[in-house]
Amino acid sequence: MTFDVITIFPDFFRSILEHGVLKRALAAGLAAIRLHDLRDFTEDRHRTVDDRPFGGGPGMVFKPDPVFKAVAALQAETPGQHLHVILLSPQGRLFTQTVAEELRWQERLVLICGRYEGVDERVAEHVATDEISIGDFVLSGGELPAALIMESVVRLLPGVLGNEESAPQDSFTAKQVGGREFQHGLLDFPHYTRPAEFQGWKVPQVLLSGNHEEIRRWRRQRALEKTWRRRPDLLAGFPLSEEDRQWLATLQREAEVPGRGTGSLVPQPRDET
Ligand code: SAM
Repeated sequence: MTFDVITIFPDFFRSILEHGVLKRALAAGLAAIRLHDLRDFTEDRHRTVDDRPFGGGPGMVFKPDPVFKAVAALQAETPGQHLHVILLSPQGRLFTQTVAEELRWQERLVLICGRYEGVDERVAEHVATDEISIGDFVLSGGELPAALIMESVVRLLPGVLGNEESAPQDSFTAKQVGGREFQHGLLDFPHYTRPAEFQGWKVPQVLLSGNHEEIRRWRRQRALEKTWRRRPDLLAGFPLSEEDRQWLATLQREAEVPGRGTGSLVPQPRDET
């Protein structure tokens, strides 16, 4: 998978490319990250990428021309091939694990990092094929969002993660429910390691029991419980098994006993597919 990042700060990415998952994926040839300096696509002596906003107001805006040229140069490398061009923007669709799953099937992703007040709207309208936000907050540039997207997509590529960092059980991990549609997952269950007792706090006995079925049930129940307490929105429409529903109903009943936890509605039954 190849990422083409268009930025005015290519050096920003050096350290993340030299560590962890991205470094490993690059070294193994499972991913390639190409950094393109937006200023290389300017034609004036000062290599100007920005200008004042029409209509007045503070700040500067990325001019459309260098961005158009940068993307056209990338498209020219593979004429006729559809390019997935992502504009990083707080106004885009929200990036989630489900979106990461969707993107990992692309052979090539172009990421446009804005700065200042943002990017001339004609880029969103006519160049980008996708607009992504990493959350409802504003950063000064698209470089951190681009790095975050690359890291979360690359760790989903087959062969990138070692056994010690398995992805399928991670929080939110999406599963495919048909065609190119993905269903987000639950929050992860709690993890423990040695020692079995630390400062008087014991690891749940079931995890030491060696009973795989009991461990599986305990982990599923803890994942459901955490999700129910912290992110009940993730349960809406989630395909629950009969066992899951029974467990959530138990939690619900316990929460309704005065003084015991908070309640939220148990989602309506839905077939597990
Ligand atoms: N004026 C813009 C607005 O309010 O929507 C914000 C521009 S922001 C200061 C500059 C650049 O940072 C954006 O063009 C975008 O590339 C990037 N950026 C900032 N916050 C972001 C977010 N939450 N998700 C993705 N990109 C973001």
